[in-house]
Amino acid sequence: MNYIVFICPRCGLARYAKEGQKTAKCLGCEYQIQINPQKIRIIAKAEKLEEAINIVKFYKIRGKQPLEFSRADN
Ligand SMILES: [Zn+2]
Repeated sequence: MNYIVFICPRCGLARYAKEGQKTAKCLGCEYQIQINPQKIRIIAKAEKLEEAINIVKFYKIRGKQPLEFSRADN
């Protein structure tokens, strides 16, 4: 089972979901997030639940500094 870690488009909180899941409710603002890679910002992928949770924690500790491997936003 793979997991994705992404950012809530409304409040910026990181959360995780199983890959292939369609929606997830943000724990911060209760927004129903559509899990569509074109609409949300996926910051990481994980193979284990534990790993996904750690990435979410790490992101919270770092604040809103992106965990990016890719190009900078314009
Ligand atoms: Zn939110």
